[in-house]
Amino acid sequence: MSAGYRGYIASRPVRGEMTPQHVQNLVVRDYAARNELPFLLSATEYVMPGCFMMLDTAVGSLDEVDGIIFFSLFMMPPDEARRRRIYRRTLQLGRSLHFALENLAFESERDIDRLEDMFRVDHFAKSGLHAGDFDSEIVCPICGGLPASETSVDFSGVTSDVKPWPRVSNLLVCGGCGLLHKRTTAEWFQDVDIIYGDYEAYHQGQGAEQSVRHQEGSELSPRSALLVRFAREQLELPSSGRLLDVGCGNGALLRTFAAEFPSWELIGVDRSESGADTVRAIPGVEQFVAGGPADAPGRYDLISLVHVLEHVPDPISFLSEIAAKLTPGGVVLVDAPSFATNPFDLAVVDHVTHFSLATLRELTRRAGYELRAYSPSLIRKEHVALLTLASGVASSDGHSLRVPDSAIAAVSLLQRLATWLPRRFVDQKIGILGTGIAATWAFEHLPNAAAYFVDEDPNRFGKPYMGTPVVAPADVPADLTVFVAQPPPMAREIAERLAKEFPGPSWVACPSLDELET
Ligand SMILES: [Zn+2]
Repeated sequence: MSAGYRGYIASRPVRGEMTPQHVQNLVVRDYAARNELPFLLSATEYVMPGCFMMLDTAVGSLDEVDGIIFFSLFMMPPDEARRRRIYRRTLQLGRSLHFALENLAFESERDIDRLEDMFRVDHFAKSGLHAGDFDSEIVCPICGGLPASETSVDFSGVTSDVKPWPRVSNLLVCGGCGLLHKRTTAEWFQDVDIIYGDYEAYHQGQGAEQSVRHQEGSELSPRSALLVRFAREQLELPSSGRLLDVGCGNGALLRTFAAEFPSWELIGVDRSESGADTVRAIPGVEQFVAGGPADAPGRYDLISLVHVLEHVPDPISFLSEIAAKLTPGGVVLVDAPSFATNPFDLAVVDHVTHFSLATLRELTRRAGYELRAYSPSLIRKEHVALLTLASGVASSDGHSLRVPDSAIAAVSLLQRLATWLPRRFVDQKIGILGTGIAATWAFEHLPNAAAYFVDEDPNRFGKPYMGTPVVAPADVPADLTVFVAQPPPMAREIAERLAKEFPGPSWVACPSLDELET
């Protein structure tokens, strides 16, 4: 049935200017005529500003028409989450939206960015700022706000595939939503291009997946085993379905998932093709796709983003791309670092956003999702969450949207440690516990090369790391001092446990900010 297009006009100013309704109507009709769109009557919003009753009705009955012609784009609701819900419904029904004044059409996923950019520009115009007053590289990728603070980083960095890197982009804290994020300079984009061009996941274990702890003292388990268990416990996963693993690397999650759910169809996507052959060889994997989520065929019941979101400069559009790939009721599994429990995450050059639970929730809400499950403790130092598309539009829980002290504290801790390390270990032969981000970072800031890396993960023994031997705690010489490169207070627990188990060497915990300040 071809029903035609409904107009939408409102007694609401557009960029400060009120246009009489009969003029709005003429503009809408003219747009329809020029574009040969069969035109129905306009729905008119008469009441107070901020009222979207007629719009809700028009969107609610989108299935009965071919689309809606708005007088202006700026008659869409000012709330981004609400707009995204409208975009989503339009695409789901295969309809289109048109904006007569701006002469724009919304017909596909790709148009979302273009339209949302116009709202961002408008937001700055309203705030009284001019184009020259701000740089897009400092704008918050979640709320479009400007930073409340900026810290230039004078320590060196580590890449997410754990290689030393000479610089870290400035750290910004958004004054709007409190997000801690990096300044996305042209140099930052160049750096990440080089990093991703030569990416080697888990090279310290020669490709073996990293083992992580559930909590201090618990067994080491592969990260993917904990994630698959979490998804299984939280969701009633059917015996068959489709899984898309975004940023699949060499397929650690796909392999673990396939073993538990052998009847699922699995697809892996990654920008890097270095793991392609390994991934294709996993039973249950139908396809490896080089690229992003939009390049994957069809829709999915489960989409996993394991250590992906923190790399994405525009997480809102990225999550919209993901939304278009979900089946109705589909779930997104997110695993991302938590800077509050692991301040060393700030030193990771290619991690552009650093989430707290509050900012992860704000991102979720603005991208049109809701948190269905969350665990701060399934994997130490990481947020694990399940997201589903929101049925309604959740309101912002404004009280959590303040500049978090934890962000300032994390930045200060690293600044202080970078000067404390060389002073504390001057003229001393030392070992470093760990072969991950924190250990690599500590290695870079020591005055003399460490004699050993010490690791509890058997995958890492006997494989030199940065030209330095990796040994088990039992094999550390008794006269050695070992710096426990882990976030405090975890470092203290580990140092105390190791001192009991291996009393010879001296185990020095990474100090807390309080300890560094006294
Ligand atoms: Zn923000």
